[in-house]
Amino acid sequence: MRKPISKIFIILIIIVLLPAIIFSAYEISSLNENEKAIDSLYNNQLKSTLRSINRYSLDVVNSWMQRINILIAEEEPDNRLSKNKALQQYVNVNSNISFIFTGRLSNHPDIFFYAPDKKPLGKFVRDSILKVIKTNDLKIKKLLASDQTELTISESLEASFDDAAGVILFPINYTSDDNDFCGIVINPKLFLIKILEPQIDLAVQKDFIVSIIKNKTGENIYSTGSNGYTEIHQKQKLLLLPRYSIGIVLKGQTISNLVKQRTNRTLILIFLVDLLLLIGLWYAIKNIKTEMELTRIKAEFIANVSHELRTPLSLISLFAETLVLGRAPTSEKQKEYQKIILEETGRLSRIVNKILSFYEIEGHKKGYNFKPTDLNSIAMKVMDNYNYQLENAGFTCKLKLCENIPKINGDGESLTEALINLVDNSMKYSKDKKEVEIETGSTGNLVFIKVKDFGIGMSAQSLKKIFDKFYRVQNGLVHETKGAGLGLSIVKSIVDAHKGEINVQSTEGEGSCFELKFKGI
Ligand code: ADP
Repeated sequence: MRKPISKIFIILIIIVLLPAIIFSAYEISSLNENEKAIDSLYNNQLKSTLRSINRYSLDVVNSWMQRINILIAEEEPDNRLSKNKALQQYVNVNSNISFIFTGRLSNHPDIFFYAPDKKPLGKFVRDSILKVIKTNDLKIKKLLASDQTELTISESLEASFDDAAGVILFPINYTSDDNDFCGIVINPKLFLIKILEPQIDLAVQKDFIVSIIKNKTGENIYSTGSNGYTEIHQKQKLLLLPRYSIGIVLKGQTISNLVKQRTNRTLILIFLVDLLLLIGLWYAIKNIKTEMELTRIKAEFIANVSHELRTPLSLISLFAETLVLGRAPTSEKQKEYQKIILEETGRLSRIVNKILSFYEIEGHKKGYNFKPTDLNSIAMKVMDNYNYQLENAGFTCKLKLCENIPKINGDGESLTEALINLVDNSMKYSKDKKEVEIETGSTGNLVFIKVKDFGIGMSAQSLKKIFDKFYRVQNGLVHETKGAGLGLSIVKSIVDAHKGEINVQSTEGEGSCFELKFKGI
């Protein structure tokens, strides 16, 4: 029996569990890769959003540079007044620009400032611009010498006069002197609000939160999220306002959180699927085991019953034939043979009754006729019927009846059958000490009847199974004793039908005591 089961077990593991294990291992290992791939996709998207915002601000400033170049070119080179006027007007209307300056690169740079009429420049600002030009002298020379046809934005230079101003230098293309250049100083706050904000709103739509942060303090000066939103996943410097950075984060959950959640969900799912497979496997193996056990039990049952039937039948036929052929030598012998025939017929009918009773119970066909029943009279009836057999087999039988026990609501016939099965077992499973005790009594409202023997007893392990159908203890004497494993399952069904209780106390080698308890009426 063990071999085919372990074979089936191995086959099932290979067919069901192995692919699941391989799949789970593959899924778990690929989760990490997926996580990385999604993270890099997300980072790329963030980067490109930031780039597009930066690109847009460059385009805006480029258009300013173009416009300024045209304004300068439209005037006669020496006609400073009207050029000044045009530039002045341009600064007045373009509030995103703090001021403009033009100059010519020489040992003592000649710088002209164009600030809005409403906000004239102080000396400090002018001096710091001069300082920027002097310290960036080489950079500016390189810019002017690059001879580019298109306008180029210089590296933005940081000026110390304003907390966050961006200074943009570019060559003036339309004047006679190659050393002419122009500078735009951006008004950071207005630039952010008027130029960048709408573009940010457009670029980020609903999915992201974009914030602009002051590099030095980390202060969040603008955010598309709620007030004071601080979380940032990707950060880039704003090209035109180098003291500011633009940061972006996915709205709601960050992508790494989402990926982690997804990973966790997948892991839980894999775990659940594996668990289900294991449960399925366990269930399948259990069923197969039960099926095989059932087949074994059926075969054993048929063998046991045939054996039980064959012995009395052959004895009956043997002694009946002896009597019929007149081979019994004396009248005592004749009587003895007749007694044997009677005993064996009784045994035969008990076996047949047991089987019939079992099938009635199994098919839910057994009917009970409940009425007030006295357990004492049932005990006496069984003892009367069995006394002869017991004595014949060398048993002494004690009947301890408690008077005045309450009656129970029971079916007399079934209760007798249950008691007969217990007494029959006591006889079958006793060896040297041949004693059977039947005792009745009551505790409170409960009435009990006990059948006690001093036979082979049972192990605690066997006790758990004795009420199972077809179960027989597999050892020594029990093997030699005939039986089909039905008696106690019938007793249990009868007690259950009476809503009673059955308890067994048994010690190997010392004996057993079966107690049936019922509610008194
Ligand atoms: P059967 O007696 O036909 O084998 P039962 O259902 O009556 O079937 O009993 C189940 C098993 O319980 C028996 O095979 C036997 O091993 C054990 N058993 C029952 N009664 C006793 C008892 N009084 N003493 C020892 N073992 C018992």
